[in-house]
Amino acid sequence: TLSCNFPPYRADVHPVKFKFNEKNKICIEYKVSPAFIWSKRKPRLKMAKLQMPGSIGGLDVPNLKLYQLAAHLRVMADWFKSDPVSTWLDLESAQSKCPLWNLLFMKNIDSVRALCDNPVTLSTVKAWRLIRALEGHAQLTSPLTPISKFPDFLPGFSDLGFESWLHVGITKLGDLFHSQTLLSFQQLQQRYTLKNSEFFRYLQIRHFITKNTTLIKTNTPSPVESVLSLQLPKMRINVFYKALTSNSPSTSQAIKLSWEEDLGITIDNPDWVKVWSYAGDISVCNRTKSTQLKLLHRAYITPALKNEWDATVSPLCLKCATERGTYIHCFWSCTELQKYWSGIVKELRAMFGLSIEQDPLCLLLGFPDNHIVKIDKDAHLVQ
Ligand SMILES: [Zn+2]
Repeated sequence: TLSCNFPPYRADVHPVKFKFNEKNKICIEYKVSPAFIWSKRKPRLKMAKLQMPGSIGGLDVPNLKLYQLAAHLRVMADWFKSDPVSTWLDLESAQSKCPLWNLLFMKNIDSVRALCDNPVTLSTVKAWRLIRALEGHAQLTSPLTPISKFPDFLPGFSDLGFESWLHVGITKLGDLFHSQTLLSFQQLQQRYTLKNSEFFRYLQIRHFITKNTTLIKTNTPSPVESVLSLQLPKMRINVFYKALTSNSPSTSQAIKLSWEEDLGITIDNPDWVKVWSYAGDISVCNRTKSTQLKLLHRAYITPALKNEWDATVSPLCLKCATERGTYIHCFWSCTELQKYWSGIVKELRAMFGLSIEQDPLCLLLGFPDNHIVKIDKDAHLVQ
């Protein structure tokens, strides 16, 4: 047998076929089997919920599709930095007629194939296009788009003069902007040491930006682009994974929206993250924690919901038997429950000597009550 003393070539990004599903969306075949997680029993929680980050109420179950893309992003980070210590960069560069990084931003995939025939490299280019789509940026020009030796920008590809722009620090189109504004040539000269003779090249690139890109409209980097431009010395897969998952908090946002509608309030995103962290710290008892998480996730089955499934079941609240048993009614607004909650507040007031308002944000979502006022000077504050 043949023994290998060198690491297998890009084992973590072996070409995976990006297939198109019935909705004409690209899908990858890797997935975690629900049967494995639930030991072949009936799944109790949606996969999307399980895969949400713990900080917003998920269980951090890895999303293998996104891990695969994150592995590709680590390769792209090597391309971006042209890191000389990267194991495979020399080999891959030799198989491409233009810098590897530049391949990512070409509009036409067939033009990419004409410049490079390494299937692993092509697979990474395809992964980048998929990431752009996941981030909702498929139709937008990336501010990381290169200038020099970029085949879609012909003057930059054929004119070696643009290499001098690299040396003064202008490597990508985003470098020509200050926040959302394209810099004038004078402003560029103030920022970088560009000679007056570069003015013609500036005009070429300005023409390209206004005619062929969407950067004038928006050049705000996506989470993935922000991480890539950090150019950290060691880029780990999990950094990219986090950037990719930050694009899909929609499940958590839907739960937030339901609470906002029910309570007639708006909860800003930093506060929403805190709600989940309070739920984790609510008690040392796991059962109490899980009760609070279940409440936050709105996972309890209410009579109103049962009635939607089966019309023969009464939708009425089990306590008052007069009103519809919706989620918020069963946990808060029911008149019978209000008696319970006022009892709790009264008890807390007596125990801690504090004035606590009967506020669902505090009592249901576990958010510290802003209105807590100390009554007795000698009593200890709970917060
Ligand atoms: Zn009721």
